[in-house]
Amino acid sequence: MKWTELSQLPAAELLERQNRRLAYFMQHELPYSPYYRRLFEENNIRFGDIRTTDDLQRIPFTTKADIAPTADDPARTRQFILQPDEQLIKQYASKQKLAQILWGKLTKQDVKRALEYEYKPVHLHFTTGRTALPTPFAYTATDVATLQEGGARMLDVAGVSRDLFALNAFPYAPHLAFWQVYNGFLKLGMTSLQTGGGKIMGTQKIIDAIERLKIGIIAFIPGYGYHLIREAVKQKKDFSNLKFVISGGERASAGMKEKVKKLLVEVGAKDVQFLSTYAFTEAKIAWIQCHELSGYHLYPDIEYFEVIDKNGKRVGPGEPGELVYTSLGWHGTIVVRYRTGDMTEGIDYEPCPHCGKTVPRIRMDIQRTSEIKEFRLTKVKGELINLNNFYPVLSSIPEIEEWQVEIRKRNDDPYDIDEIFLHVALKEGVSMGEMKHRIQRAVHSELFINVDIHEQKLEKILQMLGMETEVKEKRIIDNRPKD
Ligand SMILES: [Zn+2]
Repeated sequence: MKWTELSQLPAAELLERQNRRLAYFMQHELPYSPYYRRLFEENNIRFGDIRTTDDLQRIPFTTKADIAPTADDPARTRQFILQPDEQLIKQYASKQKLAQILWGKLTKQDVKRALEYEYKPVHLHFTTGRTALPTPFAYTATDVATLQEGGARMLDVAGVSRDLFALNAFPYAPHLAFWQVYNGFLKLGMTSLQTGGGKIMGTQKIIDAIERLKIGIIAFIPGYGYHLIREAVKQKKDFSNLKFVISGGERASAGMKEKVKKLLVEVGAKDVQFLSTYAFTEAKIAWIQCHELSGYHLYPDIEYFEVIDKNGKRVGPGEPGELVYTSLGWHGTIVVRYRTGDMTEGIDYEPCPHCGKTVPRIRMDIQRTSEIKEFRLTKVKGELINLNNFYPVLSSIPEIEEWQVEIRKRNDDPYDIDEIFLHVALKEGVSMGEMKHRIQRAVHSELFINVDIHEQKLEKILQMLGMETEVKEKRIIDNRPKD
């Protein structure tokens, strides 16, 4: 069914379709996954037993630790790729599919090609963990088509006209953000420029392109976007054709959105919708807001989301907890009941008050504890602190132009105490004097720690952040020597 129809179906009908899809996926696709064959066997679950989203609760969770390759087992993630062979196909393929293969007058070569199209990995993304080895997620040719469909759906949800000229400023890398946006623009048939971000094309050329090509929609990581637009303001550029900003890769706090929109007005972009996306590598697709205050619109034919409490029990609609994801529409690498580590305030199921679409929506404020687990939650002076909290605190102080947090050991001695340096560049004309105490107080009230503030020149801090040299700016760095 077409997205435009699907996204208007009554909730009950959506759920019924979702259950049918789920039952099919469990019986005819999931058995091709070596990992889930073993998991189901160990837990005495038959694939045919899982027929509704409620039945899913019988399946144990999958966690990041189950998927990530280890030094002992570097190929571990392969267990999560659907790998049908002749015997498995005979056992698990749907009757329709078997009939096609057996009586469809297909040659052996035709069958092989058709199976390759559906199941052979042709494209890879990697998760970027700091501690774990990078985890590959494989797309088949059908998956690439789904990725394109996802991109087209996002632009539909956002209400983007395909006549706009588009610019992709996500870093060029084997990551979802760049390829999701690339495929979306392509599928919709929009004229687009794939820049690869500051590291690849360079900020100056990107700024020039936005003005010269009269770009109407631009996609970027918020921290980089702010840098880009600030430079454009300095150069008195004309961005008056810009109608949409799509941010991804990291959370855009309310303060950050505010700052970016203020700057946009200065380059003539007065009426911009700043829409955020939600995504993670394991889901292979991204979701977007239809309005700056709306939730992220889901695709009930491609995935299923549930929310659980801290004991792993499913909570009711609209209740807060951890997001758990199940694939319904992918081949290649797939996960079922995957604990994202992301905390939501709830999923809404009634029609969207902004666009009227009936698909479920994850509320806009998501706390990404998955990042925290890897790096963001760290012990400083023996106290556990959430480094993510630096983002909203510092972006809500308008006098701060750029910042970087550096954690170090005093005297670089692994046994000495931790120190937190906050490198700050202030807006032109603002002096550090009393700002120092204001910033320290703001940080202390949110993170309960004291920071040493070091004023830096803007050019210096941009260099430290790696705006033009890194795939993603280095906002928080841990320079403590490993003991
Ligand atoms: Zn909406």
